[in-house]
Formats: sequence, C-alpha cells, structure tokens
Amino acid sequence: MHISDIRHRLRLLGAGPAHEERVLRLWARALPQDSGRRKLENFLPRALRNELPALCEELAALARLHTEHPGEDGSARLLLALADGQTVESVLLPPGRTPGLCVSTQVGCAVGCRFCMTGQGGLVRQLGSAEIVAQVALARTRRPVAKVVFMGMGEPAHNLAAVMEAIDLLGTGGAIGHKNLVLSTVGDPRLFERLHALEHAAVGTVKPALALSLHSTKAALRAELLPRAPRMAPAELVAQGERYARATGYPIQFQWTLLAGVNDGDDEIEGIVALLSGKYALMNLIPYNAVPGLPFARPSWERAAEIARTLHRRGILTKLRQSAGQDVQAGCGQLRARDLPIHKPSAAPQREVSW
Ligand code: SF4
Repeated sequence: MHISDIRHRLRLLGAGPAHEERVLRLWARALPQDSGRRKLENFLPRALRNELPALCEELAALARLHTEHPGEDGSARLLLALADGQTVESVLLPPGRTPGLCVSTQVGCAVGCRFCMTGQGGLVRQLGSAEIVAQVALARTRRPVAKVVFMGMGEPAHNLAAVMEAIDLLGTGGAIGHKNLVLSTVGDPRLFERLHALEHAAVGTVKPALALSLHSTKAALRAELLPRAPRMAPAELVAQGERYARATGYPIQFQWTLLAGVNDGDDEIEGIVALLSGKYALMNLIPYNAVPGLPFARPSWERAAEIARTLHRRGILTKLRQSAGQDVQAGCGQLRARDLPIHKPSAAPQREVSW
C-alpha cells in the first residue's frame, strides 16, 4: 500500500486536505486518531469517521511486531510481519542525542553485495511507501523516533518513488527533521537525478541527507563486491554526492564496510585521501559483522582504529562505528534468515563507538 492510496481512499470518504493531513500526521506519529484539540465529530466528515476504525486497523496491519531482539548496547532489532506474511527488519538504534530508527525499503535486495546476507536471496518484492512509514509508526509505539535512516534491507534507489513518498510524509506530518532523514544508496544515476531536482525545489520541500556506500576506491573491486550496483566510478559518485551536499548544506556520509584483507589496506587509505580531500563529507568506517557462510572477516579493532586515525590525520573527517546490536545476530537480514529459510546480507545500521 502506498500513501497515495490512503489519500485517495480518504478523499472518497469526503476528506479535504486538512482532514487528510490530520489522519496521516497522527498515524505517522503513532498518536490516537482522537488526539488533538479538535474533536473528531466536529472535524472529520461522517463517512470518514465511520470508516476510521477499519482504516486504522488496516494501517496497523501493514507492519506488526513479530519478534524483538534487544542488544546490550540499548538497540533493538525488530522483525516485522507485513500484511502478506513477508518479513522485514527495522532497528531501534542505540540511545543517543537523536533517537533513531533504521528502516527497510524492500523485501530482499537485487544489488547482491557479496558480503551482505540480504543480497544473497535477491529481491522478493518492493515495499509500499505506507509500509515504510508503518515501520516508523510501529517503532514510535515503543520509543521516540527523531531520525530515520534508510539503511535496512533493500536498495532505496530501486524503490525510489515509494521511498521519496515516505520521506515526504516523514519530513512533514511525521515531524522528522529533514537532515535526520538519511537516504542511503550504492549510487544510481536515477537517484542523483531526483536529488539534483530537489536542489532547486521550493522552500519547505523535504530534502533528505545522503549516505553513499563506497566500500572501495577501486572501480574493479567495487564492481566485484557490489555486482549489480550501477557502474559509476568512485570519483563520479563522490562528485555527484558533493554537489548535493553543497546544495543542501548537509555533508555527505560515505559508508565503508571494513573487510579484512579486502579493503582495509594502505592502498585504500591513499585512495580515500585522494578522493575525499577537501570534500564536504564524512567517512563512516564500519568493521564487518561476519555472516555465516560468506567468505569475509572483520579486521581487528586495532587495525580499524589505525585506519580511522590515519585518515583523520590526513584531513578526512572519519568516524569508526560498529553495527547496532551485534550480540543479537549482527547484520541486517540475519533475523529474517533465521526466521525463514532465506539468506540475505546488508549494510547494517551503525552506532558510533569510539572515534
Ligand atoms: S548491502 Fe544493502 S545494497 Fe548491498 S545487497 Fe545488502 S541490502 Fe542490498
């Protein structure tokens, strides 16, 4: 289900723009539909009032909590059941200044990153924009959510219309600050085209922050690790991201999953310095969480810290992070795989730990 479908349905029940916004706002904020100053009977059309309990039930059924897995770091991985029985994961990020949630945008993923459990099973189906917002609404029944990162299962660029519709609602009625909506991608010309169009959009238009999964500065290695990502050279990715970062005023975040012996060498440090020097950017290094059956390992914490220190010394703003809830079956996709006989990996959501 998409948000546009809900809007259409509300209009058929006699809703005007103000009614529509109120119903969607309260849903996205996980507030009861009878909250607020105006009483329902004095505000909503009768047909809509009569239908509201059934509609709320349908919205609640878009994503129901299947299992919850609290981590020692204060995070919690949520395995959610969708209305058709498919499952996706959301992660309540460890407590911090801005309480965050990592959401999924697809069931499965077609990019097929070699180190990611989610990518091993391919794409199962797209999530509707309402299913993306439903993850936030559900999470808000458990904790406040003031930041949403689109780094769970799926590649947002492959479900762009739904993702942008969800971002638009979350950044307006959903009350999430625009720079706290973090759209994560492996990089896709269609996505850059859409973002560049936002650069000149009217004041008030929701412009999300951008995170780019780089993982290597070498085009050939990156193509090997991310086999079905669009073939954009690392320098081109950085240039496109830099343009959007300068236009919006939010630095671009580069994601780098550290794989022992693959992309944690001095050559990559030199490559990063060459690519990112002087850029309005932040490099997030995330030591890999091993996935059973996949031939990748996590470098030692000492090596990861050394890379972060070196980059920092060379003028690259760098953070060393670790995935949220490592003690509860690590990377994104593993809960789902454990629950179903399906395997997939992912760029797991992170928390900053020490740099
Ligand atoms: S890391 Fe992200 S883009 Fe790559 S396969 Fe996993 S979910 Fe897809």
